[in-house]
Amino acid sequence: MEQTFIMIKPDGVQRGLVGEIIGRFEKKGFTLKGLKFITVDRAFAERHYADLSAKPFFNGLVEYIISGPVVAMVWEGKNVVTTGRKIIGATNPADSAPGTIRGDYAIDIGRNVIHGSDAVESARKEIALWFPEGIAEWSSSLHSWIY
Ligand code: ADP
Ligand code: MG
Repeated sequence: MEQTFIMIKPDGVQRGLVGEIIGRFEKKGFTLKGLKFITVDRAFAERHYADLSAKPFFNGLVEYIISGPVVAMVWEGKNVVTTGRKIIGATNPADSAPGTIRGDYAIDIGRNVIHGSDAVESARKEIALWFPEGIAEWSSSLHSWIY
């Protein structure tokens, strides 16, 4: 079953949006497979965002991600990568539709509350980076209607 990596960024944690965000993924029907509350260091944040290292906003982005604890999660379900991105909304909250997380709770592109993997392959890499110890297994096989 498809998995994605979702991270509530430091502003989302500090603004008390953890429960709201987790609730949206739960109520959609996706399955929470991993969760940790951690503050990452600069080297780790740079690895997570390595693909963006040439961008002019890279240093500011890294400062933002290391500025406080984040909630790192693995969510599972059919099409969870693409649907997760839809739940999150466009990168720039100015363009995020109302009803999406960024559309409802963010204003600035540099403080956009949440991260979600953009493809199945990047999800695999990000889950390996953030959860090197692996993900605890729990069976949802009795609940076949839950993707
Ligand atoms: P997404 O998070 O939607 O996948 P990107 O991967 O393009 O977006 O960028 C990663 C993160 O970098 C964004 O979520 C945002 O926090 C930050 N970012 C992107 N573009 C800018 C920008 N022009 N100025 C400041 N921060 C930016
Ligand atoms: Mg991205």
